[in-house]
Amino acid sequence: MGKPRVVYWFRTDLRLHDSLALKAALDLDPAVLWPIFTWDPHYVYRVKGGVNRFQFLLDCQKDLSESIQKLNTKSKLFVLREAPQTLFPKLFKAWNVTHLVFERDTDAYAKERDKTVIALAEKAGVKVITRSGRTLWDSDEVVAKNGGKPTMSTTQLQSAGRKVGQIPRPIPAPTYLPDPGDMPVKFTQDKPATEPDLNAPHRGGNDETYANIAGPNGDFAIATLQELGFSAAEATTPHRGGETLALRRLEEIFSDEEYAATFQKPKTSPAAFEPQSTTLMSPFLHFGALSPRLFYWRAQDLVEKYGKKASTPPESLTGQLLFRDMYFAAQAAIGAPFIQTLNNAYCRFIPWHLPSKIEATDMGDIAVSGQYHVDSPQAEKWFLRWKAGVTGFPFVDALMRQLRAEGWIHHLGRHMVACFLTRGGCYVHWERGADVFEEWLIDHEPACNAGNWQWLSCTAFYSQYYRCYSPVAFGQKWDKKGEFIRRWVPELKNLDEKYIYEPWKASIGALDKAGVKIEGDGLGTKRDGVYPGPMFDFGERRNVCMTAMKRAYSIGLHGNDDKVKDGTWKEL
Ligand code: FAD
Repeated sequence: MGKPRVVYWFRTDLRLHDSLALKAALDLDPAVLWPIFTWDPHYVYRVKGGVNRFQFLLDCQKDLSESIQKLNTKSKLFVLREAPQTLFPKLFKAWNVTHLVFERDTDAYAKERDKTVIALAEKAGVKVITRSGRTLWDSDEVVAKNGGKPTMSTTQLQSAGRKVGQIPRPIPAPTYLPDPGDMPVKFTQDKPATEPDLNAPHRGGNDETYANIAGPNGDFAIATLQELGFSAAEATTPHRGGETLALRRLEEIFSDEEYAATFQKPKTSPAAFEPQSTTLMSPFLHFGALSPRLFYWRAQDLVEKYGKKASTPPESLTGQLLFRDMYFAAQAAIGAPFIQTLNNAYCRFIPWHLPSKIEATDMGDIAVSGQYHVDSPQAEKWFLRWKAGVTGFPFVDALMRQLRAEGWIHHLGRHMVACFLTRGGCYVHWERGADVFEEWLIDHEPACNAGNWQWLSCTAFYSQYYRCYSPVAFGQKWDKKGEFIRRWVPELKNLDEKYIYEPWKASIGALDKAGVKIEGDGLGTKRDGVYPGPMFDFGERRNVCMTAMKRAYSIGLHGNDDKVKDGTWKEL
């Protein structure tokens, strides 16, 4: 038997450092090793990713490819354009592959996909090797040590984690990579490149309209934004990706030892910008350009150095990474229903407003039926104004505009806008807010996004629904002068700081002086110097929401209750 012929499949691990999976591949002492990435139509077509996130992903791929080339000029990241479920059986045969190696991914879709690929490999006589690396501990092992249950608190995570063992210390990047073997891909008829339709429904993995498997030039190049159906000019985020940048940023963060050792999340400002007050490592972690274990150990080593002066979980930097692992392990236990209410036994059922069409003539008060708010054109309009950043509450609008433009906002900013959309203002379903985040976040992580939306809407993880964020007082706490608002809501940039959080309270004289008019609902064509009035009385809405939450809690239904599934909850 000859030496192994190994395909190393990069997915959410776009790095060379601290990769136990890549080490396992190299430990095989391969004759050839192909580092590949497969464009999965599930991600290209189905996931609601905006251009900013795709740009970040391509940055990570380009950087990884260059790093691979530095280790072996004959190699690079070979990008193939076909769903793994249909591509691999052909590759295994045509490339005479003996081993497939990849880092485990516990996202619900990824687990299904990998199960299929593993079965196909076994059928083809290809040995599959996987290693953990996306989280501090392997999420499935955490679940097993947590009695098969989801981790619903960081305490549960830590106690299950301790049973799994110590978080592994990071390992260095490899210093060599073997040559790749031949790469014939003439096993299907190549199709001409066509513009992918990002709104097209999921094609079930056999995508015939996507470009040639080896790319438009047949050289397995990294795709361009254009190839993915975007124009490069559409990307608006200043945040760029790649392992090199991630490691450089990590060094910068930890060069300020005091900051890193004493980091306390609740004391970091959501209104800080250029620079932001937290690390902004989340998109790198999402695409695996940074190892969470490297980040963890850099922080933990400092904690040991600083002793009692160091901050502790859950507020410390290590605590932040524990939250991340907690959501991953919760998702690993619950599976696909984790990202929704329906069929999710751990998610409280709250009868949120349901989506409905806006009728221009029907903008009246919230429709109320019995104890419940039902389909509400008014709430739908609130949702649209929230998404567009024209609620008339400047702090909320500034955050939503930053999110849309840059793909990242501070954690407490996410708290503010998520609470406002759900239990602290609009009473709109958390899944609708999570959808918007999925579209715009460059760090969108299915487990963390759904889990945090559940937390903020008090449907899971957290239940203190009577603690609400005020769109006025919360922002003022951090940024009295409203600099953050002036940056993102330029209509108000000259407004006196007395009114910057509540422009509707300003006198005509103060508004005239600032060159601003309070008018309309902010939707439709923008007019210079015009900013909308608040879309509701916040105090009133907070009380309405709280009463509704109290009632929903007292009924106590969850996403898997029959009454929720068959709609008879309405009779309660
Ligand atoms: P830091 O404060 O510097 O923390 C370091 C790292 O810890 C982060 O990079 C992140 O990986 C992790 N982390 C910190 N807080 C959390 C948390 N609450 N949950 C999970 N991980 C955490 N984070 C995502 O990575 N992807 C998401 O899709 C996402 N959606 C969110 C949606 C809502 C409604 C809310 C309230 C939070 C969401 N978060 C999400 C969590 C958190 O806001 C971001 O991880 C954090 O703001 C990223 O900025 P940072 O890297 O500067 O964080």
